Amino acid sequence: MSECTFCKIIAGALPAKIVYKDDLVTAFRDINPQAPTHILIVPNQHLSGVAALTAEHAPTLAALFTTANQIAAAEGLAGDGYRLVLNQGRHGGQTVFHLHLHLLGGRRMTWPPG
Ligand code: AMP
Ligand code: ZN
Repeated sequence: MSECTFCKIIAGALPAKIVYKDDLVTAFRDINPQAPTHILIVPNQHLSGVAALTAEHAPTLAALFTTANQIAAAEGLAGDGYRLVLNQGRHGGQTVFHLHLHLLGGRRMTWPPG
């Protein structure tokens, strides 16, 4: 078994509040939510981050964004809007090195980010 936390969640070896799963992606609630709705959407394939992406990952990337769209609608966020965040590397604030898209909503977001 991989030591990667998100690989363990995808495999069902670590508990998580899963909100969606298909052949390409899994979505689950963040353990330390930064907004009333905070869901992580991750590829089922282990990819360390944006830096690991190539053109062959296009179907997976499409699935990350279309799943975010569908979950945002299901969570009632489509009208007021929401934020998608993808942190890459140390300066980006990445702490889990399995590619993930943050879906944040339910409050007004600030800009610029800290
Ligand atoms: P990032 O800082 O972009 O790498 O985001 C990692 C996110 O994963 C953080 O928001 C954490 O709260 C979240 N996280 C870490 N471990 C877990 C876990 N076991 N279940 C759910 N979310 C997690
Ligand atoms: Zn992983």
